[in-house]
Amino acid sequence: MILGNTYVYACPDCQLRVSKRSVRSGTRMGATHYSDLRIDAPSYPKIPQLTKCEACACIFWLDETTKVEGAIFSEPLLFYIDLDHIQEVQDEKKNPAFGDQLEIHPAKELDREGIKDALFMNVQRDHEDEHYLRRLLLWAYHEQLQDGTILREELNEDLDYLENIDALLHLLADENYDKDDDDDPHFFRAELHRYAGRFDQCMNILRFRYALQFWHPYVRKMKQQCRKRNRDAFVMN
Ligand SMILES: [Zn+2]
Repeated sequence: MILGNTYVYACPDCQLRVSKRSVRSGTRMGATHYSDLRIDAPSYPKIPQLTKCEACACIFWLDETTKVEGAIFSEPLLFYIDLDHIQEVQDEKKNPAFGDQLEIHPAKELDREGIKDALFMNVQRDHEDEHYLRRLLLWAYHEQLQDGTILREELNEDLDYLENIDALLHLLADENYDKDDDDDPHFFRAELHRYAGRFDQCMNILRFRYALQFWHPYVRKMKQQCRKRNRDAFVMN
């Protein structure tokens, strides 16, 4: 994997600067693909698309709208100003990349509560943003399930988890789904019903949409999970 430039972004509320690396090229070789569309690639860095400001708690997208123009840092990743010359820097050639800061820290990914806050604060600008955030939230729950910080029994009763699944299903409904997208939404829809414990609805989608692909390994695996009344995502590769 080849890392690209590091860019600087400013919180729209308080102007706090954070950085975000870009990836120039990379493969996800050796990655684990899960049926909830999550890809776990240890050698591929997770690069946040949005973050929560550590100064004012504002949640903002790390994109062209918040990028500090011209502020590009390349390897090595060092952000510093010679302390003897701070005054000079501030007075004469204040670097707009830094704002009033002496150093810039990498933007952090949102945790589960942060993602919920983002949705609550309506940072999503369109269906695509909402889809992205809701998938992140689903994955945050499933990662917790995997590392044991949440129990299956707790998750089954978690209304936010179930509401998020329904919101995702709504986004994937025919009238909202972007027909130009190559992804097949039905597999994910079937999985979402299964995560919510609605095994009959999962099976109905499989029977209706995959009637001619009943032999497909993922379809078979999903049906198997339904029969076992298992609500966990499974590894696809
Ligand atoms: Zn801020």
